Amino acid sequence: MALAKRRFDTLVIGAGGAGLRAALQLAQAQATVAVVSKVFPTRSHTVAAQGGINAALANVTEDNWHWHMYDTVKGSDWLGDQDAIEYMCRAAAQTVIELEHAGVPFSRLDNGKIYQRPFGGQSRNFGGDQATRTCAAADRTGHALLHTLYQQNIQAKTHFFDEYFAIDLIRDAQGYILGALVLEIATGEPLLIEAKTTLLATGGVGQIFRTNTNAHINTGDGLGMALRAGIPLQDMEFFQFHPTGIAGKGMLISEGARGEGGYLVNGEGERFMQRYAPHALDLASRDVVSRAIYTEVAEGRGCGPHKDHVLLKIDHLGEEVVAKRLPGIRAMAQTFLHLDPAREPIPVYPTAHYTMGGIPTDRHGRVVVPAGHGEEAISGLYAVGECACVSVHGANRLGGNSLLDIVVFGRAAGNHIIDYLAENPFHRPLDEASVEGAMARLVRWERPEGEETVAGLRKKMQKAMETYCGVFRTEAKLTEGVAAIEALIGRLDQVAIHDHSRVFNTQRIEALELENLLQCALATVVSALGRTESRGAHTRVDYPERDDTHWLRHSLFFLEAARLDYKPVRMKPLSVESFPPKPRVY
Ligand SMILES: Cc1cc2nc3c(=O)[nH]c(=O)nc-3n(C[C@H](O)[C@H](O)[C@H](O)COP(=O)(O)OP(=O)(O)OC[C@H]3O[C@@H](n4cnc5c(N)ncnc54)[C@H](O)[C@@H]3O)c2cc1C
Repeated sequence: MALAKRRFDTLVIGAGGAGLRAALQLAQAQATVAVVSKVFPTRSHTVAAQGGINAALANVTEDNWHWHMYDTVKGSDWLGDQDAIEYMCRAAAQTVIELEHAGVPFSRLDNGKIYQRPFGGQSRNFGGDQATRTCAAADRTGHALLHTLYQQNIQAKTHFFDEYFAIDLIRDAQGYILGALVLEIATGEPLLIEAKTTLLATGGVGQIFRTNTNAHINTGDGLGMALRAGIPLQDMEFFQFHPTGIAGKGMLISEGARGEGGYLVNGEGERFMQRYAPHALDLASRDVVSRAIYTEVAEGRGCGPHKDHVLLKIDHLGEEVVAKRLPGIRAMAQTFLHLDPAREPIPVYPTAHYTMGGIPTDRHGRVVVPAGHGEEAISGLYAVGECACVSVHGANRLGGNSLLDIVVFGRAAGNHIIDYLAENPFHRPLDEASVEGAMARLVRWERPEGEETVAGLRKKMQKAMETYCGVFRTEAKLTEGVAAIEALIGRLDQVAIHDHSRVFNTQRIEALELENLLQCALATVVSALGRTESRGAHTRVDYPERDDTHWLRHSLFFLEAARLDYKPVRMKPLSVESFPPKPRVY
């Protein structure tokens, strides 16, 4: 039977905040847009974002975008590209107002303006007093944002392919990206979507770690697709561990809890952050707070019978504040811990949270790869959101900056695609040979025999990543980690798919996801072994210092031969002076 085909100006893979913001820009400009999502759009992980979105609106304290830029550069431990950071911070206020006008129901101050709360790493006047920069809709900001963007897209007539799974990009012999092969999950039928431009917005890859805050769907599919199309992944060694996951379970307790006045105590009842970040205390950057909690527990000052966690106190804030500002946190603690945080402290421990690395792009969302002594854009391919590395988060993301990243660069990519379509109005011819690789990947999993299971291999991968590539890393551990992940990749061929039907075959989908996960895990552990310094979230016990002489560079991981390359950080902003590296203290 001939392969079914559809044609659009733009194919957006992913219906989280990044994909939907880009799609909206395009649909409103009368481009034909297809959005493919493996889950119903409003189930994308953006829906789970709690604390808020940063913009220097100055509704609570004095503020401006330049201070936000400084905080972001410092938060990134100087690995962020300063042109992209300036662009994002300058665009933030307008972007949030646009969201408000589109219908996002932000919480309000008494004077009617958008409510803002303090978040980690925010300062006034380039490192001075705490700023209050995070705009919030209670502790359900992502939910409000995603639903609003979805409704706006329905109005703009974006074409949705709900519960379709993207298998692989289609790249022709000249290097152009011409769309993707997708699978309708319900029927098991493949569909070729041809597009003049393709945008990857598939989110992060938190599922490579055992304990994480991410949805089960965050399996790095877009990252795997990019790797298999010959595109490297940038800065994959930088994975954010959030300080306050529910101990032993991993679900997120938002930084908003500390923003509202919550604080951490150890088994001796001490506010230990005083020793690690005397100025910013519990609102130091996430990497700093996570290392502090690990250290407290490792040195025997943990809480509970096994001394294996610390406590987050919000019980002193009063019932009214908890009910009004942190209702989701309260519900989560009641559901998963059977305790009311308005009355008792919450047991917390760090948990894998955010993928700083990703597909390398410029600030227009174009995917850029090394070429000769410089870089070149891959024609027809864009990436935005957590799957992209633009890079505004560098070695450590600040809370509230990801929701900002997805809408700012979603919009920017949409605008760039509109210009590209004006200059490239026709579909390029697509020959059958370009589709063969993607089809082969699909057929590979139509196989009943084998000694391994998807769940078994995934569990081993998650354990290996936690053991060898967690918060504290060494050459010895990482070397073992590379061997362990490579061995698991070697066993993929032994995975059996017992479900032979085409219809709603979730075993096959999970196998496809597992391959993506393993490729991302390999990128992470190989990049971590390569970087012999400590910067932001990447802590090498054997190289404890940041080394700006050798390592003010982004890493690039290529799937072929698991090879690494490096490129310099873009230190030059667009209009202001650059912020040169200095010691990072909070
Ligand atoms: C619990 C939690 C709380 C957070 N809180 C905050 C916060 O308060 N503030 C903040 O700034 N950031 C927060 N973050 C981070 C932020 O929410 C995410 O980085 C951001 O929402 C990612 O958006 P995205 O659009 O890039 O991807 P996602 O929202 O993850 O969407 C990915 C999309 O890709 C689709 N997809 C993936 N693979 C395929 C495939 N193979 N085929 C088809 N479709 C596919 C999915 O269906 C989905 O639609 C939080 C993250 C978590 C996990």
